[in-house]
Amino acid sequence: MTHRGRFAPSPTGPLHLGNARTALLSWLAAQAADGDWLMRVEDLDAPRVRTGMEGRILDELRWLGLDWDEGPDLGGAVGPYRQSQLGARYAAALRALRAARLAYPCFCSRAEIAAAVAAPHGPSDEGPRYPGTCRGLTPAEVTRRSGERRPAWRLAVEPGPVAFQDGVHGACAYDVAATTGDFVVMRADGLAAYQLAAAVDDAAMGVTDVVRGDDLLPSTARQLLVYRALGLAAPRFAHVPLVVGEDGERLAKRHGALALGELRERGADPRAVVGLLASLSGLAEPGARCWPRDLVAGFDLSRLPRAPARLAAAQVAALLEG
Ligand code: GLU
Repeated sequence: MTHRGRFAPSPTGPLHLGNARTALLSWLAAQAADGDWLMRVEDLDAPRVRTGMEGRILDELRWLGLDWDEGPDLGGAVGPYRQSQLGARYAAALRALRAARLAYPCFCSRAEIAAAVAAPHGPSDEGPRYPGTCRGLTPAEVTRRSGERRPAWRLAVEPGPVAFQDGVHGACAYDVAATTGDFVVMRADGLAAYQLAAAVDDAAMGVTDVVRGDDLLPSTARQLLVYRALGLAAPRFAHVPLVVGEDGERLAKRHGALALGELRERGADPRAVVGLLASLSGLAEPGARCWPRDLVAGFDLSRLPRAPARLAAAQVAALLEG
C-alpha cells in the first residue's frame, strides 16, 4: 500500500506551534515513505470559520517549508478538498447508515440528556454518555416527534471495546459504548459531525496514513465504528503527543507568542521554528535551524517519544531574538 497522508486544519483559528508540529510530522511520514500528502480544510462549522483563515494557514505552512500534492488551492483527483463543499457525501453516508439500520434519529436536547444521566460515566469529549433515550422509539413516535423538532442522527454503538494499533502509542482500546454511547453523526442542523466527516473523507480521499494529535485517540475509536458501519477500509493511525507548556498544560495563548503568524510577523526565521519543532520531537538538537526536507532521511514515527513535548517560554522567546 502506498502512503497517502494528510493534514486537516480547521480554519477557526490560527495555527500555533503544536498544530505546526503535527503538520511537520505528518508531512515527514509521507516524505519518508515517498508518498503523497494532501491538505483538507475542515470548514464544516460555518459559524466558527474565520474569514481569510484558510489562506493564512496554507500560507504559514508554506512559509515553514511544507508543501502538498493536492488541496483546496491546487485541486486534485479526489476533490473538493473543503468539507463545506462535501455535504452530499455526508448525506449519502447517513443514508447508507440508515438503510443498514445503524443510525437512528435523536430528538433529545442537551439539557434532556444531562437530566437523564444520573451519574456521568467518566470523561468523554462529547459530554455525558448518551443514555440511549431515542434508540427504541417506535416509527409512530419518530413520525410524531419529527413534526416538533428536526432530529440529530446517532450511530448505534455495540457494547465492548474498540481496539486498534497506533503507530506511536501501540495497542489502544476504547470502550465507546461505555464512555460516549451512541454518538452523533449528523447534527440536527444538518451538518455532519466531525467523526462522520473525517472518516468518510479519509476513505474517499484514499488516505492510508492519518497522523494527528493524540488528543484525538478516543475519536479514532468512534471513527473506526463509522468505517465498520459503512464497510470502509480504515487507514493506519499514528497519534503524536501534544505539545504542552512548561506547566504541563496544553498549549494556549498564555504560554507566549505561539501563533505561527505572530512569530512570522515578528521576524522569526522559519528554519529556527522548524528546528524547534524538530527538537521537540527528538529529531534535532535544541537551537538547530533546518528546513523540513533536511529531516526526511531516516525519519521514523515509531521512534517518537510517547510523552507530551514540553515547550519552554524561553525557547519561543529565542525564536524572536534572531
Ligand atoms: N480538523 C481537526 C483539527 O484541526 C483535525 C482532525 C483530524 O486530523 O482528523 O483538530
